[in-house]
Amino acid sequence: MLITCYYGNGPELGYIYLKEPTEDEFDDFDRGKNEIANFVNPTQIKIPYVSDAKLASYLDRMTIAANTFKADHEIGYNTEYGNDMDEEGYIIGIELTLDHERFIDLVKNQVFKVIKTEWRNKKFHVVTFDHAGNVFKPENVIYKLTNEEDTFIIVQLKSPENLGMHYLDENEQKRPVALFKALISAREHIYPLEYLMQPQFYLLKNTSLQFIDNNLICEVDALRFWNAIPKEKRDHILNNVFCGNCLDVVRIVDCSIYNDANGLLLRGKCNKCGNSVAQVIERE
Ligand SMILES: [Zn+2]
Repeated sequence: MLITCYYGNGPELGYIYLKEPTEDEFDDFDRGKNEIANFVNPTQIKIPYVSDAKLASYLDRMTIAANTFKADHEIGYNTEYGNDMDEEGYIIGIELTLDHERFIDLVKNQVFKVIKTEWRNKKFHVVTFDHAGNVFKPENVIYKLTNEEDTFIIVQLKSPENLGMHYLDENEQKRPVALFKALISAREHIYPLEYLMQPQFYLLKNTSLQFIDNNLICEVDALRFWNAIPKEKRDHILNNVFCGNCLDVVRIVDCSIYNDANGLLLRGKCNKCGNSVAQVIERE
């Protein structure tokens, strides 16, 4: 399972991909920037698989919501950033507030676990996203994702004040915020065990980007180098990027410029076919 945490500028956000992201959503460039190994010993990076027959008794102590999670959204609870769900109501991914110190602590302590258990005469895998003491609290609430009752989630309901969130609407301010604590799944083909067990933890630094024009953004640290290139040469660079799909030299659009070990890295799209293209400009 892939979990990201972005730190640096602005709010520190995490994203839990319950479904494996496509190359477009999270690509090799993002993967190459991972800093987790600077903070956690690689031998500690794993998702333990354990069996726990007693878990059902903890689940039975929690409240089970009558509605599905999808149906209760903005009725029984709000979310921090909204839920990414498929059409049926199965959650694909969760965006959450996650500061990098907490993320490092969670990874180090192997809080992300897959627990095999039996509940309501059915075999489930419980995937936890917090310390067990916070996941299996009797005050937490279990929601079914669909009426199939083959997948559930455990949420902790917190008041917006406690999370420092302020709504203008009085009713909104009273509605609790659901914090995602665990997935309880018997739906192997949506949540395959093989994917859930792969520890892919990414700690990534936010870079500040500056808008140059409609087509071009540049990392602040790279701006000086980019601007030092004569205007004509810059235009020439943007108009002469090789596209592996067109097998031709094309113009790069939606281009982002980053600092790179060798100089500058341009990433964007081919103006003809829309394929991803990239180009390194070496420092002279
Ligand atoms: Zn192309």
